[in-house]
Amino acid sequence: MTESTDPKLQWFNFLKIFTRALVQINLYKPDHPQVKQALDEGQAQLAQIAETLNGGEFSVTIDNDKLLVNGVPLVAADKLPNSLKNLYSKFRIQTITFAPGVTGDDLLALCQVQAFKGEAKAFLKERGVEKITLNESVYAKVDAGQTPGASAAAPTAAGGNAGAGEGAGAGTGAGQAPGEKIGDAISGQGLETALSTVVNRATHDAAEQRRIMEILTAKFKEEIVAEVKKALEVVHREKKKVENDMVRAESVMTSMADGVVVVDKDGKIIMMNPQAEAMSGKPLAELSGKKIVDLSQIENQVVSLAKEIKSENKADISKEVIKTGPADLAETVKKATTIIQNEDGKIVGAVSIPTDAAKMKQVEKLQQDFIATMTHELRSPLTSIKAALEIMSRDAVKEDSSRGILNTAIRNTERLNSIITDILDFSKLQSGKLIFHQENSDAAEVAKEAVESMKAWATSKGVNLSVTAGPQARPIYADKRRTVQVLINLISNAIKFTPQGGKIEVSADAGTEALEGFTFFSVKDNGCGMKKEDQGRIFEKFVQVASGEKVGGTGLGLAITKAMVVMQGGRITVDSEPGRGSTFRVGMPVYKGQGEQPVFEQTPEMTEAAKPWWKKLLGM
Ligand code: ADP
Repeated sequence: MTESTDPKLQWFNFLKIFTRALVQINLYKPDHPQVKQALDEGQAQLAQIAETLNGGEFSVTIDNDKLLVNGVPLVAADKLPNSLKNLYSKFRIQTITFAPGVTGDDLLALCQVQAFKGEAKAFLKERGVEKITLNESVYAKVDAGQTPGASAAAPTAAGGNAGAGEGAGAGTGAGQAPGEKIGDAISGQGLETALSTVVNRATHDAAEQRRIMEILTAKFKEEIVAEVKKALEVVHREKKKVENDMVRAESVMTSMADGVVVVDKDGKIIMMNPQAEAMSGKPLAELSGKKIVDLSQIENQVVSLAKEIKSENKADISKEVIKTGPADLAETVKKATTIIQNEDGKIVGAVSIPTDAAKMKQVEKLQQDFIATMTHELRSPLTSIKAALEIMSRDAVKEDSSRGILNTAIRNTERLNSIITDILDFSKLQSGKLIFHQENSDAAEVAKEAVESMKAWATSKGVNLSVTAGPQARPIYADKRRTVQVLINLISNAIKFTPQGGKIEVSADAGTEALEGFTFFSVKDNGCGMKKEDQGRIFEKFVQVASGEKVGGTGLGLAITKAMVVMQGGRITVDSEPGRGSTFRVGMPVYKGQGEQPVFEQTPEMTEAAKPWWKKLLGM
């Protein structure tokens, strides 16, 4: 080792050697060559320092997070190796003073004290160490400005592998300069350090200090444990309550006959009961977090729920349902949806009870079957009544007043019959049971047949009913019987809404609509006509427009008529003016040798717009 006369370098050298010795004594026995070498070097370095100091004492202090040698701040304490710091903190030492003449054994005892459980001073005394003294008081108060620029050398002073992960210990920052107010000293310290500072002030007896610290720490721990226990009891109680609520909510949900889906404010599924799982065909585990609209099986019924609840504004919730699908179904689901709001009134989710589509269909089918059976049952006795009335009317004497009464009765049975036919046809259309046998049909024949069957009624009402059908009316690809029925419906309306003395012209022609592939039928009357705004509505089911005179009917006639036309690939329009009359035009596809499958040209009505129209109309 090179000898140096620079005191600071000598100090650093000693600290480096001493730190090495502190580490090695933990690793090896005292007579190990490495330990011996470190102690010898340390003793030699101390001898040099004593010489430089002219036989003066050499003191090493850790105070206020600084390392001071002979009162001169050398380096910040956090730059010091932990093994050195721990020696100070463990025994609450502030200063170690080395008098000239320290032996290797003295140094060994100082190194071994770190593993000692009792009092450090007593240990040294027992080992006969006199040249090294341990002190709790600060050596001297020094200005920070005096700090020499030696701190760069500090890391090298660490030497060895002195326990990088060790804690610094509680006592490190416990000291304070004399005269400093205790409040100022502890204001910036952690709890344990602050306690230590206060205790250091209270007594200089290290053993007493340790005892006080132990008592205070134990009391503090006791208090903390009691407080935590108290707080935990409340938490446990609340937890139990929440758990009970959850179990209750879950069992209510599970035992409900309907499917229940709970979604968050983004429409993502949070909960589903087994019934809803069965409806969707997938378990909650698979659907959790998915958007409710992704469930194709209940999509129609959910009706843009997610979109609505995303809105923070409650007023939006009642806005019109946008999702396509049967409107009444959508409305049902809407009513079965509850919005969940938090304490501030914000929407955080929704509970929806989607209607079981299968159940709905079952109910719909029951309803249709009932209508079909009921109308059929009504019609049979009516047919017998009508036949009986006709026989009686034929047999009645011409002038007999009873004949007039009988004729009125016959007309009423006819009206009743046509109403039943309407309901029956409508029900068949709804259930998809109305079958069309489309074939090559003569348009002129269709027109004439329809006019023929309505002639008697028109005549009895004093309305002129005529038909024109030229050769330009090309044969149509249609169900003849149903197409005649279409024209009969239109003619019967014309008779109903045309006063006595009026006229109705029925025709079959190529049409001026410039639509290739269609033959047109026209039913033109000069009756009461109707307003423009009503003309768009009359094809809807159950719509009857106020026409001045009160006439019977169900409001189903034109809805059925339009459905029959469109389902055969045709189209129907109306042109009317109040007080001047109405013209209904029906375009049916021209026969082009179609086989079983209709191959007529697609019209705008038949494509996208057309199909949903009647499906929507019929609730299909
Ligand atoms: P209804 O069986 O009650 O007659 P429709 O569906 O056949 O029902 O007709 C609906 C409404 O259209 C009628 O109530 C009537 O107001 C109007 N309407 C239909 N045809 C004519 C017409 N030729 N002239 C004037 N109004 C008509």
